Amino acid sequence: MEKVVIVGTGCAGLTAAIYAARANFSPLVLEGHEPGGQLSTTTLVENFPGFPDGIDGPQLIMNMKSQAERFGARFSFAQLQDFEPQPDHLRLKIDDAWMESRTLIIASGASAKWLGLENEKQMVGHGLTSCATCDGAFYRNVPVCVIGGGDSAAEEATFLTRFASKVYLIHRRDSLRASKIMADRALANPKIELIWDTTPTRYIADDAGEMRAVQLRNVKTGEERELEVKCVFVAIGHTPNTVPFRGKLDMDENGYLLQKTGTHTNIPGVFAAGDVADHVYRQAVTAAGEGCAAALDAEKYLANFEH
Ligand code: NAP
Repeated sequence: MEKVVIVGTGCAGLTAAIYAARANFSPLVLEGHEPGGQLSTTTLVENFPGFPDGIDGPQLIMNMKSQAERFGARFSFAQLQDFEPQPDHLRLKIDDAWMESRTLIIASGASAKWLGLENEKQMVGHGLTSCATCDGAFYRNVPVCVIGGGDSAAEEATFLTRFASKVYLIHRRDSLRASKIMADRALANPKIELIWDTTPTRYIADDAGEMRAVQLRNVKTGEERELEVKCVFVAIGHTPNTVPFRGKLDMDENGYLLQKTGTHTNIPGVFAAGDVADHVYRQAVTAAGEGCAAALDAEKYLANFEH
């Protein structure tokens, strides 16, 4: 019987792994379908405390992983497919085989939604991103655009005006979904230009493979045009990675796990940490904090079983 199984190797999962390993539980950490989480697809991280000159996202993740390994965490490129709570333990289905664990820390994160355009995968990190907080400061005095019409899009567009020379906010309808206060703030900002009823149809790279422009289509008139931008910020929402837990763990209407007290879910021994349960802050450092809390909650829970 495992003592601690952790799902996810982003900031939350790896911090949980460091704490659980230092508590001598030798946690089993499942890498999942996006090893390293969202940080592994960013470049320079300038807002993680302790790195005055910034640190590469993938490097930060590798550092956390080796820190966890040093204290005895075990990593496996495997997926959790299902789980069944028992009175004092959990049955976990991992890569088609069932095993048992006393606790489960779910840190499977949330994945940014993308538009699904043809060369999207190649362009991520080359002028295409889903995180203004992470990448906005790299685009100073150049035009950029934000795709979406919700609170994230309005907030990111406003944030990006600190750096960019011009921010185009491109929305597929003719009114914003964003709350009035955020929408009003974006609409009143002289650096933000709204482009209504429009969706991107193609990312256009320069010779170096960096974003040069985006092809747009007006959904009402069908008219196409090219807009010169150095970066496209996609802000059309996130999807929490909670499919294996549907119908078993309490979630909100968007599928984010609900925490009862601390990181406890509604099932004893199952804890949730990071973006899988947080649609508000979504920062590397808040996810790391929750990973720590989940490991401490699991440690306290495991004390019930020590002889
Ligand atoms: P959201 O509210 O779901 O908005 C997504 C936006 O993207 C919508 O405007 C939607 O268009 C558009 N969209 C979706 N799929 C698209 C596609 N394939 N192509 C083009 N556009 C597409 O997501 P969110 O803005 O990330 O917000 C998520 C939650 O977090 C919300 O509850 C929000 O209030 C909250 N939030 C709060 C704050 C804050 O309070 N500071 C900040 C950010 C987010 P339609 O409008 O046409 O559907």
